[in-house]
Amino acid sequence: MRILKFGGTSVGTADAVRQVERIVRDAGPGALAVVSAFSGVTNALTRTIELMRRGDTAGALAELDRVEERHRAMIADLGLPAATACFTADTIDRIRGLIPALTALGDITPRAADTILATGETLSSRIIADHFTARGLDAAHLDAREVLVTDASFGAAQPDTAGIEAAVRGKLLPLLARYRAVVTGGYIGATPQGVTTTLGRGGSDYSAALLAAAAGADECQIWTDVDGIMTCDPRIIPAARTVPRLTYDEAAELAFFGAKVLHPLTIFPAVRKGIPVVIRNTFAPDRPGTRVVAQNGNDRRLKAIAFQRGITVLHIRSNRMLGAYGFLAAVFDVFRGHRTPVDLVTTSEVSISVTIDDTAHLDAITADLARLGEVSVEQGRAIVSLIGDGMRETAGIGARFFNTLRAINVGMVSVGASEVNISIVIAEKDLESAVGLLHHEFFDGGSA
Ligand code: ADP
Ligand code: ASP
Ligand code: MG
Repeated sequence: MRILKFGGTSVGTADAVRQVERIVRDAGPGALAVVSAFSGVTNALTRTIELMRRGDTAGALAELDRVEERHRAMIADLGLPAATACFTADTIDRIRGLIPALTALGDITPRAADTILATGETLSSRIIADHFTARGLDAAHLDAREVLVTDASFGAAQPDTAGIEAAVRGKLLPLLARYRAVVTGGYIGATPQGVTTTLGRGGSDYSAALLAAAAGADECQIWTDVDGIMTCDPRIIPAARTVPRLTYDEAAELAFFGAKVLHPLTIFPAVRKGIPVVIRNTFAPDRPGTRVVAQNGNDRRLKAIAFQRGITVLHIRSNRMLGAYGFLAAVFDVFRGHRTPVDLVTTSEVSISVTIDDTAHLDAITADLARLGEVSVEQGRAIVSLIGDGMRETAGIGARFFNTLRAINVGMVSVGASEVNISIVIAEKDLESAVGLLHHEFFDGGSA
């Protein structure tokens, strides 16, 4: 069996949905389609929640009206039956009913937010399943909340692997045996008690990988709007090329360091079961895309450049660090206490520098760190990472890397213990030129 995940742009218009139907049909019997919300819908629902937080009931209702209209137009374009329109109206009405009371309470909990955010995938999956059926493709709709069991960390729910496996055996596999295709929503799940959760933005890729692992699928296909994983984000490097094969480690590293093409956790369930992950272009299905596999022979070539904007660097200087044990632990304890993940870390005899991208607790973190040493904060930074297996064995890459960037002021430098990446911190204003120079040096000449 195969899992085919379609992202927001891949289901963003009636024509795109028709294209998805062709791809699922061609995949043969026993295909599970995991779909995202229609493009822009999760953003609109996020805005709805933001307006509610600001006490703007009318604004939130107007935003939800636009979401409803978007789905109504899709149903009309696809010529779907009244039952689909009723399901959509009922689903939206339920959310509409919650808005005034929640807004008046002035406390939109992460739990309430997830219930609202889940609307996008609840609707898109049902509409697409109904379209398949209307086109004579024997398909069933499965509410993802019946199989994607998670804990109650709303907004970034953690999967319950055993729960998912049991639900996949009990509910998904019997449907796959009876129908040619099953359609479910990505990104959303539920606690064992049935409370709706979400896996975090971009989480549909993760849903697909979790379901693929639980079902023992032959392959997990991620269908998106570009030709696979490329040497860099084609939005800033139009000359980027598709990377035909990557290892799990390389793909995970790329995703963690900002390549939005895959949700960072997608690779782990696939690794656990050794399932190949394939990234393909919905709008050019004849192209091979990228295969992510456990081993890539002796392919030591560099694979890609990833980057992240909006990074904050904190430097902590203290003489107490000299020869002291426990200092680093105390520093990391501060970040743990404020539930803020740290990305890059560098240390010297008397200082430690760390990067974070979540600045929600920056003031409190700085105040706590000030008790350990002298703290300085740099905002508006970016991380650029060069990724490829066995980097340390390839002589001269570091020298070429820094020589290419000689005109750019490089802050922190970190070489991953995984030997798969070199990352640096630079000013955000230098990002495009740094990435352009590196891409030209390592990928344009065909030398990589
Ligand atoms: P989907 O809605 O299908 O999940 P996303 O927008 O989440 O799609 O991810 C696809 C986008 O990721 C591409 O349009 C591209 O701009 C961006 N991207 C960033 N880095 C890369 C990369 N290395 N290779 C391919 N795409 C990338
Ligand atoms: N619809 C969700 C988002 O936009 C999940 C996804 O598309 O992967 O974040
Ligand atoms: Mg995505």
